[in-house]
Amino acid sequence: MERRLNTDRSDYAGAALRCACGQMARYAGRRAKGFDSVLGKLRLERAYYHCASCGTGHLPRDRALGLEGSSLSPALTRMIGVVGALVSFAEGSELMGELAGVPVDAKQVERTAEALGREIAQDERDVVEPEPPGAPTMYLGMDGTGIPMRASELAGRAGKQPDGSSKTREVKLCTVWTAEARDDEGAPVRDSGSVTYSAAIESAASRDTDEQPSDFAQRVDREGRRRGFDQAERRVVLGDGAVWIWNLADEQFPGAIQIVDLYHAKGHLWDVAKAIYGAGSDLGEQWAKQRREELDEGKIDAVHAALQVHAQANHEARKCLDYVTRNQLRMRYPEFRAQGLCVSSGVVEAGCKVAIGTRLKRAGMHWTAAGADAIIALRCCKLSGRFEDFWERYSSAAIAGTG
Ligand SMILES: [Zn+2]
Repeated sequence: MERRLNTDRSDYAGAALRCACGQMARYAGRRAKGFDSVLGKLRLERAYYHCASCGTGHLPRDRALGLEGSSLSPALTRMIGVVGALVSFAEGSELMGELAGVPVDAKQVERTAEALGREIAQDERDVVEPEPPGAPTMYLGMDGTGIPMRASELAGRAGKQPDGSSKTREVKLCTVWTAEARDDEGAPVRDSGSVTYSAAIESAASRDTDEQPSDFAQRVDREGRRRGFDQAERRVVLGDGAVWIWNLADEQFPGAIQIVDLYHAKGHLWDVAKAIYGAGSDLGEQWAKQRREELDEGKIDAVHAALQVHAQANHEARKCLDYVTRNQLRMRYPEFRAQGLCVSSGVVEAGCKVAIGTRLKRAGMHWTAAGADAIIALRCCKLSGRFEDFWERYSSAAIAGTG
């Protein structure tokens, strides 16, 4: 392979070629450089042109092969990107050796995957190709989850630790899916292959004085347009009770049906039961079961009354009472079900686990915000089935010399 590439001298383009600065770059012989490829190390000799006027070197072959500014071949970069999206950098390094027979150390996996992830994050912001809605009813879910950060990334940030400091930062996730399929009982279930994700460590807070929506609101807007959510006959926004979710839904998708994910709501009631009766108590279990049935049956008043009894003495009960009060219109489950809507998909919850948790919240991991955002972008792209499209744009831009 190496011999064949080095015998081919068609990259010689004459004694001089035009430099971007407008002057001529002179041919200065062939230069060798080592590259890592899926076939192992390659030593390539390439025609080298130098522009005396601006000092720039030109290597036409590097550009043609997508090797410009890198010592990794495009195929290898792509492989490392996929591996880095799915497993830890250390595991990625092991897989590269095991499956591809190419030794790439963990640090190199990290650098390469993060660099690719940064490109993907930029591409996500720049390119929105709107699609028609995939179904008459489209679902958009939002959620947040904390990921462990390096101490240096958190200096001065307020958090939930007893001393007021923080160990995590919140990743906000937006996920879009359809649920035309039905289970044995006729309840809507998520259509397989319909889920896409977009996420980042971003703020969702916007003030009246802001000229633009928050970064996360813009992300949600892009994802909504990409999926045709904004064009759907029936739009449903699902989330837990967090205030920012509903503020954002009101601003971005007025008129959409808002539903508190039943899975989340039941989780909160379970927490209250534990706080009142202690973990693992039969009484607590019974209490929670009753509340969950009431919730399923749409008896919000009954849930309300049961929480009221404990609200005085119990902090969790008080918090939950407030939550139920604020969100009761979003908890009309029997009504939503009668309309054939998905109320407790678990998709949003699972999205946080699948897209973020399993890759970024593992033992011993500590992220920088920039590193986490790059890997999150890479992973969301891969899990949403968009890596191929990105790669096409990316490699054609690199060869055209604009990337
Ligand atoms: Zn020049």
